[in-house]
Amino acid sequence: MIKKPFKDIELSRLGLGNMRYILTDPENGNSPIDRPKAHAVIDAAYENGINYFDTAYVYNSGDSERCLGEAMQKYPRDSFYIADKFHQHANPDYEAVFEEQLKRLQTDRIDFYLLHCIMDGNADTYMNCGCIDYFLKQKELGRIRYLGFSSHAGPDTLRRFASFRKWDFAQIQLNYYDWYYNTAKEEYEILTELGIPVMVMEPVRGGRLASLTPNAEAVLKKAHPDWSIPSWAMRFVKSLANTQVILSGMNSLEQMNDNLNTFSDDSVLSEADQAVLKEAADLFRADIVVPCTACRYCTEGCPMQINIPEYLKVYNEWKASGGRPDMDLYNAVASEGTPDMCIACGACAGICPQSIAIPDLLKELADAVK
Ligand code: SF4
Ligand code: SF4
Repeated sequence: MIKKPFKDIELSRLGLGNMRYILTDPENGNSPIDRPKAHAVIDAAYENGINYFDTAYVYNSGDSERCLGEAMQKYPRDSFYIADKFHQHANPDYEAVFEEQLKRLQTDRIDFYLLHCIMDGNADTYMNCGCIDYFLKQKELGRIRYLGFSSHAGPDTLRRFASFRKWDFAQIQLNYYDWYYNTAKEEYEILTELGIPVMVMEPVRGGRLASLTPNAEAVLKKAHPDWSIPSWAMRFVKSLANTQVILSGMNSLEQMNDNLNTFSDDSVLSEADQAVLKEAADLFRADIVVPCTACRYCTEGCPMQINIPEYLKVYNEWKASGGRPDMDLYNAVASEGTPDMCIACGACAGICPQSIAIPDLLKELADAVK
């Protein structure tokens, strides 16, 4: 496992994210984490040189912290680092949350402490609620070693928040898809300019980049037949100079072995490999994304007054992320009509310059959010 200096310590380049464990009852999201399976992954991570373990107050309603705390009891406390997070919305009582976290983790300090999930709508609350002063005090007392934040905010809010005080580190969603097509590159550059090391979350975009479309995979396989598809995503973020720890929510030993192989040396993607990856990403995107240009020719004639281009954006984000559509995005669309109200009259499709099968896509989206 390759390591990289961080201030006065050394961190493994690969970190273990503790939010995707298998539950005792996979059908019941509130059931406890399957301890033998989770501890096998944690132990394998530790034994293979991973020394950064990331959890949060809200993961598995606290069971992630408990599960990690139990697993780490057998190891010397100075041989690993725990990252944990305070989520203002989940429980605003920061003092009580912090004490509870120490108990759940069975430790007297949290090495990397993060304000969790800074967004455009909550950044000011975090800045004004008093929690930062409290956590700085805990840092002085040695109960927190490094203080940072994780962000899903847009670039403007990120810059404002990151400049608000001196942070030890920050964690952002960073992967080649968001780098090419969203704002990840801009966010990374803001943090780099401010001298803040970047912890990477979602390097494989929640697993969506673990398998691409056949066209895209063929390009990658041709270039490096021995590299797995997800390893391209890990190699991309590993190649960025200001990335520190790259988190992966590994819940199988097979996945861990693939990652361990990627992080067994300091190699970075060559320029030729970068070009191959961009070519594959473009093919992947073209295969999954509806090419709506937001011209809005379709909306005027819609008898149900559905905001078609905005719902197609939600559709595209869903296809690029996998899983279920993002309900926050879905509910945020300003529209008189919703996709389930489409009567398939076809007026929109008949006028769309991109020949998009709008009624079919709206029906697919409506069915997926039921
Ligand atoms: S097919 Fe659906 S979305 Fe298109 S115009 Fe008719 S009602 Fe509106
Ligand atoms: S007409 Fe077609 S391209 Fe234009 S906004 Fe509607 S769906 Fe998008």
